[in-house]
Amino acid sequence: MNSPSSADLRSLDRSVVWHAFSQMQEYDGLIIDNAQGCWLTDIDGRKYLDGASSMWCNIHGHRHAHIDNAIRKQLDQVAHVTNLGMSHSTTITLAKRLTELAPAGLDHVFFSGDGASAVEVAMKLAFQYWRQCEKPQTKRTKFLALGNAYHGDTLGTVSVGGVSRFHSMFQPLLFPVLRGPCPDPYRLPSEIDPGKAATFFLDHYRTLIEKNADELVAMIVEPIVQGAAGVVVHPKGFLQGIKMLCDEHDCLLIADEVAVGMGRTGTMFACEHENVTPDFLCLGKGLTGGYLPMSATLTTNRIWDAFLGRFEDMRTFFHGHTYGGNPLCAAAAHATLDLFEIEQTLRKIPAKHTLMMQGLDRLSSHPEVGDIRSCGLMAAIEMVEDKRTKTAHPWQQQRAGNSCRRMLEKDVWLRPLGNVIPIIPPLSISESEIELLTDAIEYGLS
Ligand code: PMP
Repeated sequence: MNSPSSADLRSLDRSVVWHAFSQMQEYDGLIIDNAQGCWLTDIDGRKYLDGASSMWCNIHGHRHAHIDNAIRKQLDQVAHVTNLGMSHSTTITLAKRLTELAPAGLDHVFFSGDGASAVEVAMKLAFQYWRQCEKPQTKRTKFLALGNAYHGDTLGTVSVGGVSRFHSMFQPLLFPVLRGPCPDPYRLPSEIDPGKAATFFLDHYRTLIEKNADELVAMIVEPIVQGAAGVVVHPKGFLQGIKMLCDEHDCLLIADEVAVGMGRTGTMFACEHENVTPDFLCLGKGLTGGYLPMSATLTTNRIWDAFLGRFEDMRTFFHGHTYGGNPLCAAAAHATLDLFEIEQTLRKIPAKHTLMMQGLDRLSSHPEVGDIRSCGLMAAIEMVEDKRTKTAHPWQQQRAGNSCRRMLEKDVWLRPLGNVIPIIPPLSISESEIELLTDAIEYGLS
């Protein structure tokens, strides 16, 4: 095929490529030619600040020499080795490194290729665990999930998901799940004292867990921040309260850190904010610095031991993905972890967070800005039609989407989420880039 013109590419991109979460009849996305640091350059040579870190996964910037070189070096050795009965040193050492970084006790790693698979693995491991632990409890068939939860787009993860806009279409195909409220402080009933928000939500979950304890396989949460729910920052103490409830009732806890892990909230893993060790920790997105598709499910000896036995005991976990543990991805993940040390990434987040929030807080007087919230370098603006009643704009109006389109005029790319504008830049963003980002958001909202 000859090199296509820009016009050809645009036409093909709209007619052949089926873009994720996109209405193809109206599709008009950027086409990127190359990138460097926090900047994407399109096929016309125009540059845009990547304010969504390429869907929340870029950590140290695009084309970072350390990650590029690590992948090239691995390419000279081998690109892919199956992990069904085989292994490679880059993958083995990555697994060990992840167990050393994660909250103590998460000593085993199952690799997959995307976030949804990492969550499905945790769900299936938890289900199978109750069938072959010392005192099997086969009545345990139910998962408990948060309101507005999002854990991926496969049918298992859609079942535990609770964003009706995305998930209601598939309802007849899904298994039933127990669900409590979304612990969203902005939507706290007005009669509840904001200081008691965690207790208010935990009371709901206590009732649900107590009532269903002997049927629960696991509770699944996005710890600290629910990304796709609209970057909802949970009230302080909620995660620890959930962990205590789960422990009291011997319910396994799955922490989906696909979005919030890898430094995004200011600590390497979000569970660290409240000193929680879950039974399963799911990682994806930023694990390879936003370079290559790799995810991981970390778990404990308790779970691991229940799967040990002779082959004929049928305790094996019959699940796997062709590219799970791929060495090129593992090399990118190693280099990503190196950079957290070399560039002291986490140490720099508080100052960047302060600067970003100074820029965003200016917008709080805007008549349609209902809420501005953040944790680490994960922030959001929720647009509302009526600030007093917190009434949402009808979703068809695409209020946040229209603002994001306007921000392109100021060289910033952000992707809306319903009426919410998530601001999730690479962790490597500089101070001047943060200023440019918040100025463009102000322009986009005006
Ligand atoms: N869990 C969470 C919390 C996510 O935000 C996402 C993706 N946005 C997923 C799981 C699914 O990850 P993937 O798109 O890589 O399957």
